[in-house]
Amino acid sequence: MSNLPKIWLSSPHMGGEEQKFVNEAFETNWIAPLGPNVEGFEEDLKQYLGSTHHVACLSSGTAALHLALVQLGVGLDDEVICQSFTFCGSSNPILYQGAQPIFVDSEELTWNICPQALEEAIKDRIKKTGKKPKAIIAVHLYGMPYQVEAVHEVAQNYNIPVIEDAAEALGSHYKGKNCGTFGSLAALSFNGNKIITTSGGGAMVAPTKELKQETVFLATQARDEAPHYQHSQIGYNYRMSNLVAGVGRGQMLVLDKHVDLRRKMNQFYVDLFKDIDGIEVLQEPNYDYFSNHWLSCILVNSDKTKGIDREQIRMAFLAENIESRPLWKPMHLQPIFENTPFYGSSVAEKLFENGLCLPSGSNLTDDDRSRIKKVIVELFN
Ligand SMILES: *Cc1c(COP(=O)(O)O)cnc(C)c1O
Repeated sequence: MSNLPKIWLSSPHMGGEEQKFVNEAFETNWIAPLGPNVEGFEEDLKQYLGSTHHVACLSSGTAALHLALVQLGVGLDDEVICQSFTFCGSSNPILYQGAQPIFVDSEELTWNICPQALEEAIKDRIKKTGKKPKAIIAVHLYGMPYQVEAVHEVAQNYNIPVIEDAAEALGSHYKGKNCGTFGSLAALSFNGNKIITTSGGGAMVAPTKELKQETVFLATQARDEAPHYQHSQIGYNYRMSNLVAGVGRGQMLVLDKHVDLRRKMNQFYVDLFKDIDGIEVLQEPNYDYFSNHWLSCILVNSDKTKGIDREQIRMAFLAENIESRPLWKPMHLQPIFENTPFYGSSVAEKLFENGLCLPSGSNLTDDDRSRIKKVIVELFN
């Protein structure tokens, strides 16, 4: 094992101004799940997304996805379609609502939900249950926009709302329109490993002010207007704290720079693997897609690499104290989702078996890149 410092997959990268906003919160005693930093961060995000949408800051991305299901009225008797190839934060909220998840495979271009398999799933669920699924959760995984037009066309044909999981895709866009603005509701995440972080946090992006206000209402225990505590609906304690929102305001100042640096990391890997047969770096299929390249990922075809497989690459990095990680394990293969219906073939499964996420942080140095390159050059020579 190497004694050199660890190179992380994706670690927090502060820009320098964050502490100023946090100090302000201390000085003014706004140490609460409301305050000027929460409002300021919401306004910054709103501007960033093009001012067409409204933003409610929450305690996590998972909380945003949960509230999206609540706001769309998903309950016990409902089915919700979800991209199988994703993080459990996309799908667990379906179970929180007692609803039935229905998983759908990925396509090979963007690795996200396959529009054909999606339609097949909708048709078959209607046939089997006499009722259409209540919502579709589509994910821009690793920052790569899903096939926006094709997916939304299927959803519109059946009049099913799409919840957009943009947890990994702040700064990505499709045909010039920002990820986070396509869904009936959308979720962002500011967890410690995301493109910007508040240590932990998330947000709902809503197309109307009323929907944003409903999110805030539900996220603060659904208090009716009364001098005492009065509740006629079940609420949640999901609002973002004013302290962490201060970190978010500071991070907004460096978001574009971070997108640029992560995209440069992706280009570094494209160059590194360009002459190595059997390794494909996930890239935008065409100029309609713009990925923030939150994580750079490769797919290994060991028939073409003289037998070198994903695990060998991962272990070679590990020996040099460099973190890398298999791609998301599809939800339909997870123990908690055993016996859940799945539509599609084996695209997601093959991605999981042969794919690897590589160090992608905006804070990686030339020295880090030399160490990464050395591992690959030595392994493939
Ligand atoms: C991070 C993430 C979430 C959940 O966000 P948290 O803020 O960690 O709760 C949901 N979906 C995807 C795809 C994510 O990567």
